[in-house]
Amino acid sequence: MATDYYAVLGVRRDAGQDEIKKAFRRLARELHPDVNPDPKTQERFKEINAAYEVLSDPQKRQVYDLGGDPLSPGGGGAGGFGAGAAGFGFSDIMDAFFGAATGQRGPRSRTRRGQDAMIRLEITLEEAAFGTTKELQVDTAVTCTTCSGEGAAPGTTAQTCDMCRGKGEVSQVTRSFLGQVMTSRPCPQCQGFGTVVPTPCPECAGDGRVRARRTLTVKIPAGVDNGTRIQLAGEGEVGPGGGPAGDLYVEIAETSHNVFQRRGDDLHCTVTIPMTAAALGTQVPLQTLDGLEEVDIRPGTQSGQSIPLHGRGITHLRGGGRGDLIVHVEVQTPTKLDPEQEDLLRRLSILRGEERPSGQFAPGQQGLFSRLKDAFNGR
Ligand SMILES: [Zn+2]
Ligand SMILES: [Zn+2]
Repeated sequence: MATDYYAVLGVRRDAGQDEIKKAFRRLARELHPDVNPDPKTQERFKEINAAYEVLSDPQKRQVYDLGGDPLSPGGGGAGGFGAGAAGFGFSDIMDAFFGAATGQRGPRSRTRRGQDAMIRLEITLEEAAFGTTKELQVDTAVTCTTCSGEGAAPGTTAQTCDMCRGKGEVSQVTRSFLGQVMTSRPCPQCQGFGTVVPTPCPECAGDGRVRARRTLTVKIPAGVDNGTRIQLAGEGEVGPGGGPAGDLYVEIAETSHNVFQRRGDDLHCTVTIPMTAAALGTQVPLQTLDGLEEVDIRPGTQSGQSIPLHGRGITHLRGGGRGDLIVHVEVQTPTKLDPEQEDLLRRLSILRGEERPSGQFAPGQQGLFSRLKDAFNGR
């Protein structure tokens, strides 16, 4: 037997049903194609599915324990054990289960659904905030117009395969220690399609599809963020044989803004103002996403204080409404004073009784702003 199903699931030969189920679930979560699309991992995923199919079914498990392969067509199902099914590779069995035929007998279709495709789209913060419409250049497989997806050169058609007479599989009788066993495998001449294309279409070499560049218009809703995926049904790759197209996913990549930093649907920025303005109060012009606005700095504003502008952030993707724009204030202490300025400040400090301040001490790092800044920089 080529595959040790017990080893595939990593369980002992006397493992109970619960243990088998647990082992399978753990592996399936880890190896599921949605989680891990790597082709090697997908092969492993097929293996654990096959192993579970056999070991979770007491009858199939018994057949397997006796040296048969219950997944082999012609074996197991109708009583006869498929032991020693010569020439029948494991992948053939799995293709029968997971391929287009899905366990059905007979030829498989040349037409299959195409793959999904993904494209990255860079947009600005403003576009994310309000939504936009973009023209996209996409490069995907489309149905070949020369053969309309049939794969046969114009004027010719696919013909019934003479080796399998259109059945897509060939049968073979082999002798084994259990008696005569009939096995079947996909027809090598037509690869299981049941038909052959004598003269492939010169445009697509018989694939039924060609690559082409198209321009799509995509509506980007307000509120999208980095990593948001927009699904465009049927705009992906056309399948082999002109099969239905997969979907196209547009993944949003937001370019960074030179003033605003986005956190969720809120925007943050920092305004630096001189000490005197913080003490006396002022108004600072700010170019928001909605145009020029005056940010009101009240007298006595401290360094690290934040001023929220409600509803000036990003539109919520679901449910409407908008986040806030939060302006963080940083108060700048003058570093160079001319004699007159220094004299003024000294007089001010005397007036305020601050010539020799005792200071107010508290444990830890008090500055709210420095903590916020650290959060921004991911420290
Ligand atoms: Zn063609
Ligand atoms: Zn054939």
